[in-house]
Amino acid sequence: MVVLLVVATPFSWAADQLPHIVILATGGTIAGSAASNTQTTGYKAGALGIETLLSAVPELKAIARVDGEQISNIGSENMTSDVLLKLSNRVNELLARSDVDGVVITHGTDTLDESPYFLNLTVKSEKPVVFTAAMRPATSMSADGPMNLYNAVLVAADKSSWGRGVMVELNDRIGSARFTTKSNASSLDTFKAVEEGYLGTIVGGKIYFETRVDKIHTTRSVFDVTGLKSLPAVDIIFGYQDDPEYMYDAAIQHKVKGIVYAGMGAGSVSKRSDAGIRKAQAKDIVVVRSSRTGSGVVPPDSNQPGLVSNSLNPAKSRILLMLALTKTDNPEIIQQYFNTY
Ligand code: GLU
Repeated sequence: MVVLLVVATPFSWAADQLPHIVILATGGTIAGSAASNTQTTGYKAGALGIETLLSAVPELKAIARVDGEQISNIGSENMTSDVLLKLSNRVNELLARSDVDGVVITHGTDTLDESPYFLNLTVKSEKPVVFTAAMRPATSMSADGPMNLYNAVLVAADKSSWGRGVMVELNDRIGSARFTTKSNASSLDTFKAVEEGYLGTIVGGKIYFETRVDKIHTTRSVFDVTGLKSLPAVDIIFGYQDDPEYMYDAAIQHKVKGIVYAGMGAGSVSKRSDAGIRKAQAKDIVVVRSSRTGSGVVPPDSNQPGLVSNSLNPAKSRILLMLALTKTDNPEIIQQYFNTY
């Protein structure tokens, strides 16, 4: 008698059926290396390459087919428009391919309110784009980078992440690029959107999305940087007691196309800045008033000069104003962008 023995094996996806996620590395603390595992300051950011980052998280192989590319290896304080253009163009190329399901970008935390917002406005795809970073260098005890990278790939590989705009994943939270900003110079729990909160969280390897963003992004955005070699120059001028008018003279001399005023309170302008802004406007420089407070809306005010930033912080306002100036210098259209993007 022949006995057939059927052994049941647990179901799992074949590796070639897993989502294909491309990780683009740009540098930052997530790729940072220190002399000892207790050193969390004074280390070298952007020291380790993409291969080292990936080899620290072999668990990625169970959730995605992962490829890595090195775009740059810099601290994000040294990020430039050139790198942003390169990054955005590469993401668009990758996501246009039917064999790529999403992109993860590793980045420094210091300007992690700027680059994700730039891509939020210039990527032409519903597929997920997820930025991640770390507050502790890769060599640190309890480094946060590996789990952040794992969670970012988890989000990028998930169908429920499509169409939500560019996201920022750190510390088990998923934030929108439109609102999220670094809120604390040194703590792990630093990426926040004070008014708007998070899009969702990750608990026990499962994604819990809670909200969607109403502002225009990705496929509905009018901004297209394909073929652009540079961006219009836009400076930020900070408002404070005794702020001097000569900052505006310097910006005018350098022939900037736009100025973001990081104003006090709801974008209040001192008499000195008022004179400077009007001088700049007379030279056809577009000025947008924003707030240095870190949250809240700057409302239109006919007694003060310039356009208003809505709820964008000064750094994000600069990103939008650069892109707006690639399309028009009409103040009404630019104000409309600030109201809706
Ligand atoms: N200043 C560096 C950067 O932004 C390191 C800070 C960090 O990544 O946390 O890339």
